[in-house]
Amino acid sequence: MMFIHHGPGKSIVKTAVWLSWPIIIAAKRLSNVPVFKWLIHPFFMRPYNEVTSIPINITLPKPDSIALPRRIIERLVADVDEKFIIEECICRSHNKVDFPPQNIGCMALGPAARRIHPSHGRMVSTKEAISHVRRAADAGLIANIAHVWIDPIAFGTRFRDLMFICFCDDKNCIYRTYMKNRGPTLDRAYRRLPGITLSVEKEKCEGCGQCSDNCFLANIIIDNGKAVIGESCAGCGRCVDLCPHGAITLLIEDEETLYLALIEQIKDVSELPLRGSDNSSESVIPD
Ligand code: SF4
Ligand code: SF4
Repeated sequence: MMFIHHGPGKSIVKTAVWLSWPIIIAAKRLSNVPVFKWLIHPFFMRPYNEVTSIPINITLPKPDSIALPRRIIERLVADVDEKFIIEECICRSHNKVDFPPQNIGCMALGPAARRIHPSHGRMVSTKEAISHVRRAADAGLIANIAHVWIDPIAFGTRFRDLMFICFCDDKNCIYRTYMKNRGPTLDRAYRRLPGITLSVEKEKCEGCGQCSDNCFLANIIIDNGKAVIGESCAGCGRCVDLCPHGAITLLIEDEETLYLALIEQIKDVSELPLRGSDNSSESVIPD
């Protein structure tokens, strides 16, 4: 009876994802090649493919915003009733790496998460979900809120009321890798959360190129020995983390503005039922 209530089990999904891995990489590489890019375009267009980064690993300098990006995700998790933790990150498992840990998998949110087969993981409480987010932040991972057509197909769930939060690194994650030579469709698939901006302090920048070499979107150039951040920035915060001279600052609006911006983006592409906690994550997020 399990197959009626749930989508396919872990071994089927893993095999399907692993078989499709080279196809996804090829599609990303060809997304900037004439003719191919028009064939590939429908697979990456909104609202069927949208990813928003939240830099949960970044600690901001202001005392009142110590872990604000992380709190935004915690608040989202607290506002959705159904949460399912996937116990194994399919990307790190595919690449057979031990760090970041494979057991910090994605989290599915929304009623459709109930259809995910129990062999993938388990439904969790808000408290468990938040400690999962904190583990991911401590491991230096970036949260990507993903509404991507391939997920409901893989897990046999509905699309509109399902959202994934994936906890990604730069070397293994299928969202973040092979993006440097992307075509214009993929440029639009990654969205920066309104309310997050980045700035470079020219006096501190030594032009070492650490940030430009490692930006997954190739969005930073070195001009006259100074880093310049371009328009395609996804606000993931990785360059802030990597700059050895502390020259890049992540500027962030207040918690309410940021959270409302996130909710708007989610509502734009999905029907995820949100409880709508008003203000003060202190009241909804367990310690
Ligand atoms: S990593 Fe820092 S110092 Fe180096 S180029 Fe980038 S901003 Fe400048
Ligand atoms: S410029 Fe920095 S924050 Fe923007 S996408 Fe690149 S690494 Fe991420």
